[in-house]
Amino acid sequence: MNHESIIKSHHERTVLPNLLDYEQACRHFNWAEALDEMNGLPGRTGLNIAFEAVDRHVIGPRRDQLALRWLGRNDEVRDYTFTQLRGLSNHFANVLRSLDIREGDGVFAMLGRLPELYVAALGTLKNRSVFCPLYAAFGPEPIRARVEIAQPRLLITTESLYRRKIAPIRDSLPSVRHIILVSEDHQPTSMPGTHDYHSLIYDASGQFTIGPTNGEDPAFIHFTSGTTGRPKAAVHAHESVVAQYITGRYALDLHDGDIYWCTADPGWVTGTAYGIIAPLTNGVTTIIDEAEFNVERWYRIIEEQKVSVWYTAPTAIRMLMRAGSEVAQRYDLSSLRFLASVGEPLNPEAVVWSHRTFGEPFHDNWWQTETGGIMIANLAALDVHPGSMGKPLPGVEAAIVERKPDGSIQIINEPNVEGELALRSGWPSMFRGYLNDEERYRQCFVDGYYLTGDLARRDEEGGYWFVGRRDDVIKTSGHLVGPFEIESVLLEHPAVAEAGVIGKPDPLAGEIIKAFVALKPGSEPGDNLRREILGHARTRLGAAIAPKELDFVAELPRTRSGKIMRRLLRARELGLPEGDISTLETQATTD
Ligand code: ATP
Ligand code: MG
Repeated sequence: MNHESIIKSHHERTVLPNLLDYEQACRHFNWAEALDEMNGLPGRTGLNIAFEAVDRHVIGPRRDQLALRWLGRNDEVRDYTFTQLRGLSNHFANVLRSLDIREGDGVFAMLGRLPELYVAALGTLKNRSVFCPLYAAFGPEPIRARVEIAQPRLLITTESLYRRKIAPIRDSLPSVRHIILVSEDHQPTSMPGTHDYHSLIYDASGQFTIGPTNGEDPAFIHFTSGTTGRPKAAVHAHESVVAQYITGRYALDLHDGDIYWCTADPGWVTGTAYGIIAPLTNGVTTIIDEAEFNVERWYRIIEEQKVSVWYTAPTAIRMLMRAGSEVAQRYDLSSLRFLASVGEPLNPEAVVWSHRTFGEPFHDNWWQTETGGIMIANLAALDVHPGSMGKPLPGVEAAIVERKPDGSIQIINEPNVEGELALRSGWPSMFRGYLNDEERYRQCFVDGYYLTGDLARRDEEGGYWFVGRRDDVIKTSGHLVGPFEIESVLLEHPAVAEAGVIGKPDPLAGEIIKAFVALKPGSEPGDNLRREILGHARTRLGAAIAPKELDFVAELPRTRSGKIMRRLLRARELGLPEGDISTLETQATTD
């Protein structure tokens, strides 16, 4: 990336970034002090996420502040203050207690973007049970498989999801003792073998004392996105709240008075870590939109709700780009102060486009289900290098390493050398295990480092650049190529909306690079356009690593969390089995 393209962090802001001096913060930060910023349970009885997220604000000046504003699909609006959220989550914790759901028991939630999701998550944490969100779009089989792994005692879902997806497989969910149904029309449900959410809440007390909670007690089970294979169930502890609070402040730059909108699906780790915990612990107001992605609706929400901090994902940003800046210009989006993106590499084109369109660039950040919180980020006070994931957060020690055949690792200190991204163990939101896969968990840690499975490089200034996943890297004519670099170049072509590339076995080159491209509206697939796009890639990348083949597709297969599933492109191209496709978006919406 050349120097002209750096987007300077501007300092004429009225709101100063929370983290102004990055180098100094890195020198002085330590997690023990960050922990001191939490209140802790009254009577020094431990650390509980729900208390830090809600109850502590109720004993302070935020008691009547808006915590959540829910926007229904049909323009209904529901508001919840911190005090109301404390009350409702107390009710839910008492409901669990009355059903004999205990400390450590699993509670599954399949709710979509509903206020009850927040109530259930917080009430579950108060009861010291373990919360696990599922995508509302899952069909019966992915639900059954996840129940089998995590053995939850209780499931909360909506009446219509229950009818369509759970009732047919109820008998194959033996660990689930209770099912709570949220009725969409507020009329009590009367499905046999289930409980009605509103009646239970109504009958339960609003007083609840959170029992002693150790920071190491399990709080969440999060299934990974399933981009590279069968989803893994990562376990997180209550202590993770410290990282989510701090990264909300540093990486998302949350300030008092912010209106924050995280667009992530609640079935994905981002939906809870940054949809629920980070904003609530930071005491800001969160917008929840029930509806699915829609360009005009999204801009209207930003305008009407005066959203100041917006956290979304590259897929959505590429869809906004596809619709064009003209649409954005029809709305007043001047409330936006900080824009952030996660989940996939954010192509430089998208960063530059957002800067031009919104006056603020999207700030890419990197983390995983396993890390429980943002680890590497483009911070508000630092210049943005489009295409870079940014720098490690204070308290996070990242390294580029090489795995040795004897199982050890070697740290690569020179800049600009590709290797595996590793993190020194010991941050609070680190996962504590994969359910039912101790061995795999153990293998992630070598010599005090957690190995992420992602390849990256670090530049001279300490910025990290994503290369690809270890599983996705292509070996062509002696070169190791990450798909991201190739896809970003394809995206520069004005006709290209999305691109995914794979390695395809070739007797001469080992692998050749094959591209799958979706076009912007108004562009027609054809041989001329194919030649033109391949030519553009060759000019920019050089013949050695440019794609040799290109197929036009209507859309790319992606996970529910918005990640291109290259393994599926490859399997389909080579006629191999498709593997676990439970999180595939198109498949999930049709069931
Ligand atoms: P699975 O582990 O089941 O294959 P997954 O890795 O996609 O799925 P998540 O934990 O949701 O599941 O995603 C984390 C991964 O997403 C990271 O390891 C990385 O590959 C990718 N990712 C996240 N943020 C970024 C980013 N800013 N830039 C590049 N890649 C990113
Ligand atoms: Mg992963």
